[in-house]
Amino acid sequence: MSLAAFFAIALIVARILGMDMPWSQAPNAQNLVLQAFNRQVALISGHAGYDSGAVCTDAGDNVLLTEADVNAQVSRQAAELLRAAGADVEIFDEYDPRLENLQAEVLLSIHADSCIDASGYKAAYYTYSAIPQIEQRILDCIDLHYAAVTGLPPHPDTVTHNMTEYHAFRRIAPETPAAILELGFLGGDQALLTAQTERVARGVADSLLCFLRDKTAAPTVTAPGESAGQ
Ligand SMILES: [Zn+2]
Repeated sequence: MSLAAFFAIALIVARILGMDMPWSQAPNAQNLVLQAFNRQVALISGHAGYDSGAVCTDAGDNVLLTEADVNAQVSRQAAELLRAAGADVEIFDEYDPRLENLQAEVLLSIHADSCIDASGYKAAYYTYSAIPQIEQRILDCIDLHYAAVTGLPPHPDTVTHNMTEYHAFRRIAPETPAAILELGFLGGDQALLTAQTERVARGVADSLLCFLRDKTAAPTVTAPGESAGQ
C-alpha cells in the first residue's frame, strides 16, 4: 500500500469514528457563529400587512410583480442567513405595532423601487437621527457589501423624504440604529430581484453583519446634540 493510500484510509476511518479533522471545517464557521451570536436584528418587510408597494403591470393593467413580494422574499432569506450567523432576528410588518419604542441592535427596513427602467440601490437614515454617526456606518456597510454582492450601483439621487423621514424611524427607540434600503428597481433590476433573491439577501445579511462587527469593534456613542461632523 502506498503512503498516500494509507493516509486516505486513515482519514476515512477517522471520519467514520466521528473525529473532527481541523481541515474538514470551513475556516470561518466558528467566527461567523460568534460574530452575531445573540445580536438582535429587526427587519421590516416593506409594505407587509399593508399594501403591495410598487407594482409592475402588463399592457392590460394586470399586476405581474409586487414590491411587497420581493421585499418579503428577501427579508425571509436574509433572516435565515443572519440566524445562521447566530443572530436573533425578527421580521416586522410595515406598520407593525411592535415597532413602538423598539429596542434592537439594528433595524433595517427593506423596500424596492418602482417599475421603471432604472438600476441601483439606495439607503438612508432618519433626518432627525439622535445617532447619525452610528447610522452612517449602516450605510457605509451597505455601500461596501450590498454593492459588492449584488453588483448594483448606488442610485443616491432618488433618496426621498419618504426615506429620510420614514415613519418607523419616529416610532422605534431613538437609540436603535436604523436605516431603510431600497434594494433596486422593480423595472431595471427585475432579473436580480426575482431570479437571484438569494444573492440580494446575502447582500443585506453581509451588510448587517458588517455593521454588528463594526459596532463591537468600535463602540463610539454620539450623545444627542453632539456635532455629527467628521
Ligand atoms: Zn416601498
